[in-house]
Amino acid sequence: MWSYQAPLRDMQFVLEHWLEAPEAWRHSPTFEALDLPLAVQVLEQAARFSQGVLAPLNASGDRQGCQWADGQVSTPDGFAEAYRAYVEGGWPALACAEALGGQGLPQLLDAALQEMLYASNHAWAMYTGIAHGAYLCLKTHGEPWLQERYLPGIISGESLPTMCLTEPQAGSDVGLLRCRAEPQADGSYRLSGSKLFISGGEHDLTDNILHLVLARLPGAPEGSRGISLFLVPKYLEQGERSSEGRGEGNGVCNGVCNGVCNGVRCDGIEHKMGIKGSATCSLVFEAAQGWLVGEANRGLAAMFVMMNSARLHVGLQGLGHVEAAWQNARDYAGERQQMRAPLRPTGVAAQAADPIRYHPAMRRVLLELRATSEGLRAIGYWAAHLLDQAEQHSDPLARQQAEQLAQLLTPIIKAYFTEQGFRQASNALQVFGGYGYVTEFAIEQTLRDSRIAMIYEGSNEIQANDLLLRKVLGDRGQAFDLLLAQLHAEAGRGATVAECAGFAGQLASLGQALEGLVDEVCEWALEDVEYPYRAAGDFLQLCGLSLLALAWARAARVSRVLPESDPLRVAKLETAGFFFSYLLPQAEQRITAVRGARAALAFI
Ligand SMILES: Cc1cc2nc3c(=O)[nH]c(=O)nc-3n(C[C@H](O)[C@H](O)[C@H](O)COP(=O)(O)OP(=O)(O)OC[C@H]3O[C@@H](n4cnc5c(N)ncnc54)[C@H](O)[C@@H]3O)c2cc1C
Repeated sequence: MWSYQAPLRDMQFVLEHWLEAPEAWRHSPTFEALDLPLAVQVLEQAARFSQGVLAPLNASGDRQGCQWADGQVSTPDGFAEAYRAYVEGGWPALACAEALGGQGLPQLLDAALQEMLYASNHAWAMYTGIAHGAYLCLKTHGEPWLQERYLPGIISGESLPTMCLTEPQAGSDVGLLRCRAEPQADGSYRLSGSKLFISGGEHDLTDNILHLVLARLPGAPEGSRGISLFLVPKYLEQGERSSEGRGEGNGVCNGVCNGVCNGVRCDGIEHKMGIKGSATCSLVFEAAQGWLVGEANRGLAAMFVMMNSARLHVGLQGLGHVEAAWQNARDYAGERQQMRAPLRPTGVAAQAADPIRYHPAMRRVLLELRATSEGLRAIGYWAAHLLDQAEQHSDPLARQQAEQLAQLLTPIIKAYFTEQGFRQASNALQVFGGYGYVTEFAIEQTLRDSRIAMIYEGSNEIQANDLLLRKVLGDRGQAFDLLLAQLHAEAGRGATVAECAGFAGQLASLGQALEGLVDEVCEWALEDVEYPYRAAGDFLQLCGLSLLALAWARAARVSRVLPESDPLRVAKLETAGFFFSYLLPQAEQRITAVRGARAALAFI
């Protein structure tokens, strides 16, 4: 049966040794009260919630799905109770500022929490997943009175936000959106139009839902330069609207709102391949009252605060899927007995049939699952730690560099992690053989659930363009040099350690190859405007693999602080060896493909 246990030991390893986060917290005025034991306690509580409350609802939520009737959406049994437990546990406030009623903990701990939520129940976690991004967006761009009114509800979990970009004719290209916003004499706006595929657009977890909606003002420029962001609550506060604007006037009132329904209606929900417990809604805005967030026509800039946080979260969905896939494949491979393996671990006698985990082909897959899960965790948490440093570090240059690196990592994490989520779920399914394809073990659910993460929140193709065209070519590789410096620094440290010198040498060669490649790409992009679009996907995959190389070189080196007999130290060295022998060679293929993309593509 599908199960999930939070990998607390590895999470602690990343925090303590890979990132040395407690050292950074000690020097930060914001986090100085935080130490490793307290951080571990937080992770243990999060593990109890995700394993004990969410994981048991994963398969049942998938079977039952959401129901829509007359504009109302019911989530699967147990989802609303789980949400109440989440709020009672104070989880929505984890990484929100103390001054605003939050717990003031680092985004790094929030990243670990999110990994657990997504691994145990991706569909459920869709409802809570963008709350932190909405908090950041409103905190950065909302007017003080709007913050005062709506931030406390987001921080406490009393209200859940949505992110409303997509329309039927505007998907990847949000510049095509048509939703309109008419200014009103009282400073508010009336929004009209349709939004499609809105996650959590309607549900029964909270009373109020706060929609963050992109729309156009009258006379706004065409395209993405004419888009503004608005906050549109499902329910208005008492006395906020005149009666002719109330929901009952346009048929959207559900009769329980005491006349404060806003003009937002859920027209239906999608029937889809995975995350069936997450309501993907069509919303109709009919002169719904809203307020501008940020500057007029600069809505995308304001929304990007939310989208960057959401992209990191979507990457963590990929990590969660890889971890769940790894755990379930490992457990099954230990139980399932088929044929005799050519070799067995020392001391194990031959039997009529061996567990499939002894077969080299299965060992290869299991090691890939472990190497990917633990490698992605180090990189995902590093990105969250960089965000903390970008905000909290005492040195302005360190703050600026942390911000630049985090920006660079964001598209890689979104696209590479989610691609791995799907790929490794498929690998895990293969370990189950035919039992993986039928529903009994629910590994097929992991595969189905993981697929969407490659599409939404800016498809992986859009992420690849963002990485290569904006973040690498945009400054002719300057920000990318910061990443290369990290690779070279790690290679330098590893070179002095006998057990790690081989890994360090491979990392150094990779760094040099990347450096040369970026120079070539910059040249070719000047000669052929289409070239970078053709090369972007392979370039991003190469960067993802390079980050895994950094993750494993450092993991092997820092694992040496653990006692020699500690199984974690042994596993880290074994897995690093596997990564550098079996997975890193893919980098060569990607480099060849980035060069090969100079060849023109035919039109189909
Ligand atoms: C389950 C689910 C939940 C969602 N939740 C939300 C939500 O909460 N809020 C919200 O606003 N939206 C949401 N979406 C919408 C989602 O973000 C879009 O589906 C996504 O942005 C892609 O848009 P599209 O489906 O119109 O595909 P299209 O934009 O039509 O793209 C089709 C294909 O063309 C490629 N493509 C398009 N343009 C380019 C380009 N410039 N370069 C390279 N390739 C390109 C895409 O990568 C894709 O492979 C959700 C969708 C789903 C299915």
